[in-house]
Amino acid sequence: MSSHQNKTPISQIVDYWAPRIDECDLSVDWSEAEEYCWNCGSPKDLTRCHIVARSLGGQDIPSNYVVLCRKCHEEAPNVDDPRIIWDWLIAHKATFYKTYFIEEGWREYEFIYKRSVDEELSYIAEQSSTQDLDRFQEILKAAVSRSTTHWGQHTPNKATIAGTVRMALLQYADECGVKLPEARAKTLTPKEYLT
Ligand SMILES: [Zn+2]
Repeated sequence: MSSHQNKTPISQIVDYWAPRIDECDLSVDWSEAEEYCWNCGSPKDLTRCHIVARSLGGQDIPSNYVVLCRKCHEEAPNVDDPRIIWDWLIAHKATFYKTYFIEEGWREYEFIYKRSVDEELSYIAEQSSTQDLDRFQEILKAAVSRSTTHWGQHTPNKATIAGTVRMALLQYADECGVKLPEARAKTLTPKEYLT
């Protein structure tokens, strides 16, 4: 982190990019781009992020900034080609308004368990010949109370969301009389891990 005080106001950064980038490609609309992170849509801890870092020759001008929350700032690419950060931002666009972290959690679920949440639900439906997505939503809402955030985080991280979905899927599968395939060859029950 640099202690350098840059003078470029966020409004100038928005004014520069609004006519150049289609807001349909981002998680925020340009009308609210001064108040929300362009990657995840969070209003918290907003920062100006250099597109090309100063150490790589980037300048303190509106065209060399995007607006990101602190968390996304840490995850943003730090390279000298200005196209790369836009590839990253556009790939992370949330499908629905303010669902960025949920979608991150869904992607993390697939990374960990090698099947998407939709595939798991289809598997349960096939095995049990029943499908009650309202019941699954109910279980999922209840499972959220079994999760929390690490110190300093304002939203659950993607691994927490993936884990919450897993707990809900396990319970839902159980109620449907289905055993979900495990990600690993040998897993213990929660009690066996804790004793
Ligand atoms: Zn963010």
